[in-house]
Amino acid sequence: MMNINTVLGPIAPEELGVTLIHEHLYCEIHRVSGRLGDILVDTDAIVEDLQAFARLGGATVCDVTTSDLGQDPRKLREIAQRSGINVLMSVGLYRGSFYEPSLHQRRTSDIAEEFVRIATTGIDGVLPALIGEIGVDGAFVSPAEERVHRAAARAQIATGLPVMTHTIQTRAGLEQLALLEEEGVDPSRVAVGHCDSLFDDAYHDEVVRRGAFASFDLIRGLDPRTTARQLESVVRLADAGFIEQILLSQDVCYHAHLSAYGGKGYTFVIGAFAQQLRNRGFSTVNIETILVRNPARFLSAATL
Ligand SMILES: [Zn+2]
Repeated sequence: MMNINTVLGPIAPEELGVTLIHEHLYCEIHRVSGRLGDILVDTDAIVEDLQAFARLGGATVCDVTTSDLGQDPRKLREIAQRSGINVLMSVGLYRGSFYEPSLHQRRTSDIAEEFVRIATTGIDGVLPALIGEIGVDGAFVSPAEERVHRAAARAQIATGLPVMTHTIQTRAGLEQLALLEEEGVDPSRVAVGHCDSLFDDAYHDEVVRRGAFASFDLIRGLDPRTTARQLESVVRLADAGFIEQILLSQDVCYHAHLSAYGGKGYTFVIGAFAQQLRNRGFSTVNIETILVRNPARFLSAATL
């Protein structure tokens, strides 16, 4: 069974515990969006919210920030040391509008080699634990994005690391999955991100029927109506027999999501949302499947 790379060194999959699979701990979306609020750099407030997550029994957070989103391995190390949380780093490139102009002159094999090199030698001594978030700007995979998806697929096969995708309010997750599969990736090594940005049951069904994880990772608790729809989607998929392919997270990526700025930090999934699942009849084992066993299986390719 493969060990999991945290930013402070490897741990066994059994040590992951309650895991948030799609978060940001340091992120600079404003560099492209131009909106000053699209930034997450307040380390003190981030550490405080991670400590709150730990007090509720949380143990691990995956930072899916790519290099073109301002990834900073040294910051991640500092945050892990100060919070006591296992922090997992990613390798990848985000989506078309975030790529450096030079990306358009690079071959797929060159991008894949870079991902594999980072996965095996690390950045500033930190080894990644997953590939992502690999995204699309719109409702389809653009030619440049296709190269990055194929590179991610080749890196997945070369390293065994799982792939987390990004697509917002479209069914492009299926096209992402198809591309990765075309390169030979086992769909069980893929999580289609932001499934809860599109409340389309048929889309969710297709993602899990094809064997991938459906990542409901925008569960921030900021709007009760959205939370209710997220809850219905998760309950429906679990009732349909796909509980082992559900992942939950909050995708904290702006200061506004932190409690110091009026948000819920990293505690909504493990706290209020898990309670709502219990209220809907989820057993302790069901909750553990979603919050502990599924992320561990996704990250380690083990039958946990
Ligand atoms: Zn995303």
